[in-house]
Amino acid sequence: MKRIAIIGSSGSIGQQTLEVVDKLKNVKVIALSNNQNHTTLNKQIKKYKPKYFNIHEKYLNKVNRVSNIQQLNNEEIASLEEIDLLIVASTGITGLKPTIVALQAGKKVAIANKESLVIGGPFIKQILEEKKESGAELIPIDSEHSAIWQCMTGESWETVSSLIITASGGSLIDKSIKDINTIKPELALKHPNWSMGDKITIDSATLFNKALEVIEANILFNIPFNKIHSIIHRESIVHSIVNFIDGSSKAQLGHPDMKIPIQYAISYPTRQYFDSKNIIELLNEKKLTFEPIDQKKFPIYELVISAAKKSDGSLPALLGADEILVNAFLAGRCEFGKIYEVQKKIYDQWHATDQLELDNVLDAYKWGEIFATKQLG
Ligand code: MG
Repeated sequence: MKRIAIIGSSGSIGQQTLEVVDKLKNVKVIALSNNQNHTTLNKQIKKYKPKYFNIHEKYLNKVNRVSNIQQLNNEEIASLEEIDLLIVASTGITGLKPTIVALQAGKKVAIANKESLVIGGPFIKQILEEKKESGAELIPIDSEHSAIWQCMTGESWETVSSLIITASGGSLIDKSIKDINTIKPELALKHPNWSMGDKITIDSATLFNKALEVIEANILFNIPFNKIHSIIHRESIVHSIVNFIDGSSKAQLGHPDMKIPIQYAISYPTRQYFDSKNIIELLNEKKLTFEPIDQKKFPIYELVISAAKKSDGSLPALLGADEILVNAFLAGRCEFGKIYEVQKKIYDQWHATDQLELDNVLDAYKWGEIFATKQLG
């Protein structure tokens, strides 16, 4: 029996995780947490009967307390003796502290929340190093990183020459720069392949998401930036490629369905029968194409990677700003072009600091949120 807890149970990844749980054998949901969606949480509590839950205090009285269910905060959930796997499916930086607490407690953490990973990278790396013996392990849910991780089974990192992370190109790949800057949210939200939350769909349209994935690979796999490349692969069938020093390459293929990497993260280190409809029929795919990223069209990509390489503390500020800017764009309060415009200002105006404390990093994230809010007027 694998006992799991989910932080962010009402979001896109959280709900898909529970769909996966429905199909897998021997998985028990011990705790469910989300920020404010009490309607969904109540339905989930009724169905999965977890022992613990969490929600923002404003909504505590909206939760149906059935059969002695107990409320714990996210850090308490993360360190529960009774769980084998913590699934971090929340958005923004709310996943960072539970991730750190769970790893410190020697838990396995399946992480879909890239903001936490990108911002908390150095701290997470350090804990993983210190807690190696205790069973602490970080399991990627992001499809590209799951692909790399699956390709690395039975391989050694010393024999890797480079990683290639594929990108669908997002919803705006065929639009002109002029059209992109004034695109409407409805169009930008039409992702060609993946079904994801709104924030990440817009981050895919700017390629901000792809830049975070390159940084995520650098943190998860300890591979330097000059060995991680990203290319456009519109069909989203090849999820990533590992090139080895002997001239061999391994790729992982699958339909663009987040339930596949989610089920692998839960079943790991084995595989379970999941859904025969999921098996890819290459003859039906007609063609698989690859092309370079158009840096002029998507300048955020290089900007964010460049901020990560500098490691001057500007990266958390860019993430904080992105949260505000994308939500403002979705609410019709700013144009799409404003997202890059404000990010570029932060990049140019940031004064280098040697921020190595977790609190400083969180402060930089907040600073980015405030800066972006002011820029929106
Ligand atoms: Mg991804």
